[in-house]
Amino acid sequence: MNAQDFQPLPPGKNNIILGIDLGTTNSLAAVMTPGGPRILRDKDGNGMVPSVISFGPDGRATIGSAAKAHAVENPLCTVYSVKRLMGKGMADLREDLRVLPYRVVGDDATRLAAQTQAGKPSTTAGAVAAASSGHADTTTAEGGCATEAGGARPTESREIVRVDINGRLMSPQELSAMILTELRQRAEAALGQEINQAVVTVPAYFDDAQRQATRDAGRIAGLDVKRIVNEPTAATLAYGLDQKQDATVAVYDLGGGTFDISVLRIAGGVCQVLSTHGDTHLGGDDLDREIIDLITGEIRSRFGQNIQFPPSTRQALRSLAEATKVRLSDAEQTTVEIDLGDGRNFQRTITRSEFESLAAKWLDRTIENSRQAVNDAGLSVEQIERVVMVGGCTRIPYVRRRVGEYFGPGKLYTAVNPDEVVALGAAVQAGILSGMKRDLLLLDVTPLSLGIETLGGAMGKLILRNTTLPCQAGELFTTYVDGQTAVDIHVLQGERELVKDCRSLGRFQLRGIPPMPAGAPKIRVTFLIDANGILNVSASEERSGKQAAIQITPSHGLTRQEVDGMIQESYRSAREDMAAHQLIDTRNEAGRILRAVDKALVNAGALLTADQRANLDATVAKLKTLLEGSDADAIYEAVQAVNTAATPLTQAQMDEVLRQTVKGKKVEEF
Ligand code: ADP
Ligand code: MG
Repeated sequence: MNAQDFQPLPPGKNNIILGIDLGTTNSLAAVMTPGGPRILRDKDGNGMVPSVISFGPDGRATIGSAAKAHAVENPLCTVYSVKRLMGKGMADLREDLRVLPYRVVGDDATRLAAQTQAGKPSTTAGAVAAASSGHADTTTAEGGCATEAGGARPTESREIVRVDINGRLMSPQELSAMILTELRQRAEAALGQEINQAVVTVPAYFDDAQRQATRDAGRIAGLDVKRIVNEPTAATLAYGLDQKQDATVAVYDLGGGTFDISVLRIAGGVCQVLSTHGDTHLGGDDLDREIIDLITGEIRSRFGQNIQFPPSTRQALRSLAEATKVRLSDAEQTTVEIDLGDGRNFQRTITRSEFESLAAKWLDRTIENSRQAVNDAGLSVEQIERVVMVGGCTRIPYVRRRVGEYFGPGKLYTAVNPDEVVALGAAVQAGILSGMKRDLLLLDVTPLSLGIETLGGAMGKLILRNTTLPCQAGELFTTYVDGQTAVDIHVLQGERELVKDCRSLGRFQLRGIPPMPAGAPKIRVTFLIDANGILNVSASEERSGKQAAIQITPSHGLTRQEVDGMIQESYRSAREDMAAHQLIDTRNEAGRILRAVDKALVNAGALLTADQRANLDATVAKLKTLLEGSDADAIYEAVQAVNTAATPLTQAQMDEVLRQTVKGKKVEEF
């Protein structure tokens, strides 16, 4: 990330509050800027830090992607899913302990170890932090959507669990603190200043002990946790839903190992959790396991039932299965290949529909949970107005389809990256706490025009600037090449005529168009912006019924000044832009006619007289030369000349077609 993305703070005032999504699988940090919340990324553009800590033989901890990679060779010293242990005692964890590969011990063992390891700071730090009882101010309303009605079991004194890595005992708080420290350091590097305050999100069902443990983890990481925010609430904040009309919203969060569904009521800028449901053992990992079972089952039936999969192989399979699942969100099918040694090679193509049938039973469960959450809120599903999609697994098209089917069409919010939306919301809350003004761009009109890239790099506007929301616009497009089966739809925002001067909002592909001659497919592109400023772009090919869509927040990350700047720039460049756009259109027209002439020459070239042919060749050659330059008027004239010179050809071609037709039919058929 560039430090320039952020406006410097007034000197001497270091009040940055980090927004942190401390996830079971992945964690992220974001910060509020004048242009809206932004994810903090490392120099490679990665914002997500896998919530994994790996300990080397020397006891040194590695955090994030590098640690995740270690899990393969070092499963016993790799800690993941530590969020599951937060604020829990051994008795609460029976189910989890069966699946976690590292050792977790209870209080008795801890005391014993503390005696034998007396004086070792690593064990005492956690004990101190975990014992400190703070004040969980989870119900303070403070501007925006800040009120939290969340899990509220009173704090009981529970025994504390520890993770045992080669005899070194660490509390979940300490381990979570390592992830928080990594996020804090990354943020400090990106922003060039020290940070010591944060807003951290937790699941809505977290009880006091779990919230307190999260707060303590923050303290160990050198962060004063200004507010604990419920994850679903953060997601609605990221969409600015609290600033719009009152609404009843469901937040469907399918992460790596957990599923949460919450029903929220947003009224007068205050957000209340009406109900939460879910399954703390349902998520992307289960879908990965389905793929692993499929693969290992087939390997065994092909190469022998006695083939064993040691832990390191299992871990490698897990990574392979996850990659397969992720790929199937974009591709219709993908092939896995495994070298089993001794010349045994396993290869298998998995299709999206096959994956969907494996995923179906898990999805059924999330829908059943959703039904219960809606019931518990005392509502009918029709009363849920919007559904915010959260968690990496909601990128899976099948998940969107099933959730859409249950809640009803047109309610799904997917515009903000589902794995970033909680962190962005935490940053919005952090911004509110530090007194920053909210992004004023959620207006009732579109601040900038919206359109798509058309042939040759021109911006084709569908919705003009200052159109009142909600609004809809559509236009028909076609293909340019014979037999084209896919088209790229590139969604743009801006006032300028050329793609390179506009802002890219997103792209998607419409695939599976049956091969047809260029110009035959009818592709309808529709733009729809709802009252909350969320843009839905869909494309459908009308003959085949193929469809694809994307959802975007068109104003995301632009400040008022930036918008004004873009408009000013468009005024300054209007004349040049028009000329450039005209040149593109003329070139496109020239390309079309040259291809048509080529095709006609193949079919009917022999029907031309020598003079006609020479004349046509000369005009074509001239047009081709002019196309190397950029004189739009000259190209336009040359196109007209080719058109005229080609008339005898089209005429001859038509005569020939007619003659052929007549020859094959009896006169009375006419
Ligand atoms: P958590 O909230 O549990 O920390 P995330 O919201 O980051 O987790 O979700 C992680 C899960 O999302 C993983 O199972 C990961 O494989 C899955 N995931 C991420 N991207 C995709 C994708 N494009 N398609 C399918 N699954 C994805
Ligand atoms: Mg999450």
